Amino acid sequence: MRIEAGLHLVMSGGGGFDLTDAFDCNVFLVAAEDGWLMFDAGAGRYPGQVFDVLAEDGIDPTRIRHLFLTHGHADHSGGAAALRDRLGLAVHAGAATAAMVATGDEEGISLGKAKRGGVYPMDYAYHACPVDRVWQPDEEIRFGDVSVRMIPTPGHSRDHVSYLVTTPRRRMLVGGDALFHGGKVAIQNIVDCDIAAICESVRTLAALEFDTLLPGHLAFTLKDGHRHAELALACVNRLQCPPSII
Ligand SMILES: [Zn+2]
Repeated sequence: MRIEAGLHLVMSGGGGFDLTDAFDCNVFLVAAEDGWLMFDAGAGRYPGQVFDVLAEDGIDPTRIRHLFLTHGHADHSGGAAALRDRLGLAVHAGAATAAMVATGDEEGISLGKAKRGGVYPMDYAYHACPVDRVWQPDEEIRFGDVSVRMIPTPGHSRDHVSYLVTTPRRRMLVGGDALFHGGKVAIQNIVDCDIAAICESVRTLAALEFDTLLPGHLAFTLKDGHRHAELALACVNRLQCPPSII
């Protein structure tokens, strides 16, 4: 789905736009001079679906060069292995995410608990994926005319990171599950979900400059996206936890 020139939504599930499998998170493509940058990978239950979306959007899949993961949860990272195998793209992640994704650590990414709780079907198969580039906190790298900065935003899960993406046209926050439309967050009954850390990460994100908010679920917004961080921060400053989408 073309959002605007150089920005596409190519996967999105039941917590979003029902573009692909219900389990998929929002997956965005951003154009850089030397190819497309992909953010998150969906759950990978039906790895062929994204290629139908890409064909409809007129995007050559072989031009997708880099895949960035926000965290290891299966709806965000489960599709990485199939994309890497098929396209030969480079997978990027923070160290904690990389350790779990590369080994297929189902308990680490709370997939075991999610299966036992009926959130995921028991026959869902998670495919481990090598990570080609492990990023340091706050590291910034240029990909042609686009710069990507990795921002540690733990809380929703211990390994969670967000990406601040600056293109010639826009300054965008790829927020994963750290910040959503309406100033919401994502609190879950999983072992590494930490409400105090969620609130600190809201403070971190609110201190950044961005216009476009590209979250892992629900609506994205192109302009004035920072207002969602301000809404969440207002809760945090009142010693509240922002409302959760879950
Ligand atoms: Zn998550």
